[in-house]
Amino acid sequence: MDKVFFTYKIPDEGMLLLKGYDIYGNTEDRFLKKEEIIREGKDASALITLLSDKIDSEVISSLPKLKVIANYAVGYNNIDIEEARKRGVRVTNTPEALTDATADLTMALILATSRRIVEGDSFIRERKFVGWKPDLLTGPSLSGKNLGIIGLGRIGKAVAKRAKAFGMNVFYFNRKPLLSQEEERFNVRHMSLEELLKSSDFLSLHAPLTKETYHLLNEKRLSLMKPGAILVNTARGEIIDESALIKALKTGRLAAAGLDVYEEEPYVPQELIEMNNVVLLPHIGSATSEARKEMAIIVGRNVAAVLEGKEPPNPVV
Ligand code: NAP
Repeated sequence: MDKVFFTYKIPDEGMLLLKGYDIYGNTEDRFLKKEEIIREGKDASALITLLSDKIDSEVISSLPKLKVIANYAVGYNNIDIEEARKRGVRVTNTPEALTDATADLTMALILATSRRIVEGDSFIRERKFVGWKPDLLTGPSLSGKNLGIIGLGRIGKAVAKRAKAFGMNVFYFNRKPLLSQEEERFNVRHMSLEELLKSSDFLSLHAPLTKETYHLLNEKRLSLMKPGAILVNTARGEIIDESALIKALKTGRLAAAGLDVYEEEPYVPQELIEMNNVVLLPHIGSATSEARKEMAIIVGRNVAAVLEGKEPPNPVV
């Protein structure tokens, strides 16, 4: 019987789909070390992983029976895709299930940063509220402002739809622009990256982390952004050079930032912790109970398909 090894327990809805297999794994509330994954997974045909598990060439080449790595995430930058391809190991992800959840959280960050929600909450708790004032915690409106999206894919489009409802103008940068009918449907316009940076009042990142997008927003590009712009990142931390971001926030070049992801997760620099114009979330983009259950079902379907010798529904490799 094929063995399925999970590095961290995922919702039962996914596990139930794998009842016919010998399922085992980490049921403790901690992340496994690389050596543990190698040791425990040595007889596994399937590996269910989190985005925090680094599945590099050493791990993949140490698991001789491995047929599939099912990542419990849409992003798969934690897996050495080339090594998996070379060894004929399938890799799958969980697209769509988390699109709305992540787009909702992106809007929450856009609103929280512009309308200073967290500052306002602290203000009350610190008993500073003495009454309504014309200039109390003011921020920019969304209506009529330009939202720039880097990576107009599934989540980027869902954000565009929501931003339109708030009266924003939406522009985007992808390596390949959408077809003009699709641009019309979403009421968006493609721009070069430079043009996008220069014209966005709000900038939101939704591209995957790849060699190309690593530090895509470096010091030079951040310096092209409109003074006073707000930056939101619910994609991957490494897409921004975090120390350049801190500098841009300190100098006031950027008015605020909303971050769900960090360059060296789970580490968050003290400078960010101390800034009150930054809203910090612990990588909870997909954290609705519905999305997390659906993601587990997708993982279950992908693993079952590969172990049954079929094409998985969500192949990356
Ligand atoms: P997707 O549908 O594949 O969309 C990605 C978009 O990025 C595509 O439009 C792609 O268009 C664009 N892109 C790729 N490389 C690019 C580059 N070098 N420069 C500019 N654009 C580029 O993916 P998705 O489902 O929307 O997910 C996007 C990312 O969000 C995931 O990879 C993941 O890292 C992140 N995410 C985070 C959370 C969270 O919890 N915070 C939750 C879900 C997802 P082109 O190929 O034409 O460039």
